[in-house]
Amino acid sequence: MNIFITGGAGYIGSHTCVELLNEGFDIVVADNLSNSSQVSLDRVRRITGRDFPFYEIDICDEDALSRVFEEHSFDGVIHFAGLKAVGESVSRPVTYYSNNLISTLTLCRVMQRYLVHKIVYSSSATVYSPDNPLPLREESKLGCTNPYGWSKYMCEQILRDVAAADRRWSALLLRYFNPVGVHPSGLIGEDPRDIPNNLMPFITQVAVGRREKLHIFGGDYDTPDGTGIRDYIHVVDLAKGHVAAIKYLQGFTGVDAINLGTGRGFSVLEMVRTFEKTNGVNIPYEIVGRRAGDVACCYADPQKANRLLHWRAEKTLEDMCRDSWRWQYNNPHGYGRDDGGNVTLH
Ligand code: NAD
Ligand code: UDP
Repeated sequence: MNIFITGGAGYIGSHTCVELLNEGFDIVVADNLSNSSQVSLDRVRRITGRDFPFYEIDICDEDALSRVFEEHSFDGVIHFAGLKAVGESVSRPVTYYSNNLISTLTLCRVMQRYLVHKIVYSSSATVYSPDNPLPLREESKLGCTNPYGWSKYMCEQILRDVAAADRRWSALLLRYFNPVGVHPSGLIGEDPRDIPNNLMPFITQVAVGRREKLHIFGGDYDTPDGTGIRDYIHVVDLAKGHVAAIKYLQGFTGVDAINLGTGRGFSVLEMVRTFEKTNGVNIPYEIVGRRAGDVACCYADPQKANRLLHWRAEKTLEDMCRDSWRWQYNNPHGYGRDDGGNVTLH
């Protein structure tokens, strides 16, 4: 089976490429490299020993995208391409809506023209309204607090409408919780361009000496230690969830939303302590004020994914901390300066 992967050079995309190639799928990747480096794809080739075509194109460019579909025939698409920084989406809403909506609409148009009707879409737990009871179930109330979240919500709706209008379509809307960790080889990973917004890349940059200390946003939440609780999922488990979704799509028509999480929440302090203990490093931190828009606690009910996709997250918080540190240690500058990814961690 040949799968087209948009945004495949990015963090989750590159990990999914590895799992698909290891499972015997053929892939074609497209990415405009706006938030990634082609080095990640060289590393995917190195890990898997397999080659695949790569197109450096913008998914919003219909002519360029059509050329890819002209040159290959696809059994399905995984659509990762998108802008994802919540804070930036608040200051640059037009950029976010344009990129995330137009890429999805253009992709739908081209898929329709080339009779490719199966799509897995990267959605997010951020589409759930903050006032839901926990754990979050697929039927929980939807509603967003920022343009990034709304763009995910709107793309979900676009795919629902496309699938309703033409029964040949099938779409799985995968709602990721908090992806962390990297491939155990330490060769591919998360490489934020600027100051990291997310917890794990910030911790690893403190550990490697690129940042002085972690700021913990809020120590007064109504949680056992006062810090925020999230459902962290190892990106390799998440990538395997996409392989399961692609397999499931072969016998499914219509549209469905599925949570990809572990079902278990950990606090910021639990994450810091686990990172320190697993890796034998010290993470200086300071508890500061809450970050606007954050909720105290968020975790998934993953039973639907267990039941329909026969998938469940298997890796532990220790695995997430160990693998993230291996990547950062071996690649202190990410892909920006190709350090070769060869250093052995003692
Ligand atoms: P990422 O930024 O590492 O990967 C996204 C990739 O898409 C990048 O390589 C970027 O260059 C590419 N891209 C963006 N716009 C494009 C366009 N118009 N044309 C071609 N390529 C384009 O992000 P990620 O963490 O791997 O996220 C992948 C997807 O998962 C995104 O859609 C994101 O919104 C979603 N998601 C991520 C998280 C998370 O915490 N990482 C959580 C929930 C959902
Ligand atoms: N967090 C923090 N310091 C940071 C980044 C994040 O204390 O530098 C906290 C944040 O408040 C939340 C948790 O870590 O409780 C996860 O945040 P992240 O941005 O990684 O994910 P999201 O907000 O999307 O759940």
